[in-house]
Amino acid sequence: MLKITKFGGSSVANATQFKKVKGIVQSDSARRYVVVSAPGKQNSEDNKITDLLYLLDAHRQYHVDASNVFEIIRKRFTDIKKELGLTMNIEAELDQFYANMYRMTQAEIVSRGEYFCAKMMAEYLGYDFVDAKKIIRFGANREVDMEATREALQDACSRHDHFVFPGFYGTLPNGQIQLFSRGGGDITGAILARCLEADVYENWTDVSGFLMADPRIVKNPKEISYITYSELRELSYMGASVLHEEAIFPVKEANIPIHILNTNAPQDKGTIIQERTKYKSPYAITGIAGKKGFTSIYVYKKHISNEIGFIRKALSIFEKYNVSIEHIPSGIDSFSVVVQEQDIQDVMYEIVADIKKELKCDSVKVENDLALISTVGKNMSSKPGTCGKLFGALGANDINIRMIAQGSDEINITVGVKRDDFHKTIQVIYDTFVGKEEE
Ligand code: ASP
Repeated sequence: MLKITKFGGSSVANATQFKKVKGIVQSDSARRYVVVSAPGKQNSEDNKITDLLYLLDAHRQYHVDASNVFEIIRKRFTDIKKELGLTMNIEAELDQFYANMYRMTQAEIVSRGEYFCAKMMAEYLGYDFVDAKKIIRFGANREVDMEATREALQDACSRHDHFVFPGFYGTLPNGQIQLFSRGGGDITGAILARCLEADVYENWTDVSGFLMADPRIVKNPKEISYITYSELRELSYMGASVLHEEAIFPVKEANIPIHILNTNAPQDKGTIIQERTKYKSPYAITGIAGKKGFTSIYVYKKHISNEIGFIRKALSIFEKYNVSIEHIPSGIDSFSVVVQEQDIQDVMYEIVADIKKELKCDSVKVENDLALISTVGKNMSSKPGTCGKLFGALGANDINIRMIAQGSDEINITVGVKRDDFHKTIQVIYDTFVGKEEE
């Protein structure tokens, strides 16, 4: 049995968190390869080491004295060393890094958060340290070269029975450090799981997995025990964030389960993400997620359906202004184009003018302040009446549905409502499919 065990920033934020990590790693001999992020926030007022490193780099770029920022970073690491009684000379390594900083690229500077954290964790666990620089290989196109990475990883495993590995970075063919996007330590863990054919990819964070709805909106929402990769992608896209979206792809192809677990409550069951599962959820839906800040452009023209190429011409106008499209609900003589407000606000007048001029339509109406709410669940497609139940409940609660979209794989029904109805809509859908919280 092999588990790739990845700990996020909050799980390694200070010495207390390091101790929890040790307890978790030592409780299971399958946890031989550990991936860590850089220390994250210890509380809401604190800073992530990665953010401080970006700040350090900005000071360097603008030739401003960076010693204060460096001191904060240095103290975070040396505090961990002192409290855990580590023997490594992290002070000398940090000072050397600061002295060499002017010769480093931004990516190299920022990557040092995970680098130092992994070195300290390795000593603390009694594991070897293996540097991602030698292993995670990016091609010239800045995508991971899976074959070269697999080879390097397998070689590392043949030489180290147990190791700690820094997440978030790798190397370009020219030897320079390349970062993943923010939160990318999750991707490193997924790559290790894939290349080493792990039985499970454990992703330890500060929540006990995914919840069926945002707890800031629904009181005590139920946990999601199992979710498929596709359901997760729908929910993440609409704002439910626990895991980096890109972390799904490497493991999905090999059907390796991702287990989201809580470092602060290791006894909780967490959420298992896997495409095929025998688990039968008691609910018709898996989760609800939503986002505010959408605009809908409604286009009406008599006999659109007879005019070949009409929608293509309309969409090419959005393309011309570089606006990405979210949904296109359509009727016989009309359709709407739903986009993110922030993408269209600067070019709205130009787009409406072009639509009127080039498409000669009878009317164009813009509706701002929309929120989209997706109800997601693989069970929905096999349960007749799910849509009826959803729309009925929203109607009964006086929520005016401005738009409806259903993905063709039927695992997602999205409704557009006025921004002010956002919270109420999520609550009503939750109460309808999961049940009301007992007072
Ligand atoms: N430390 C990086 C970040 O804060 C990567 C990670 O935490 O996964 O984005």
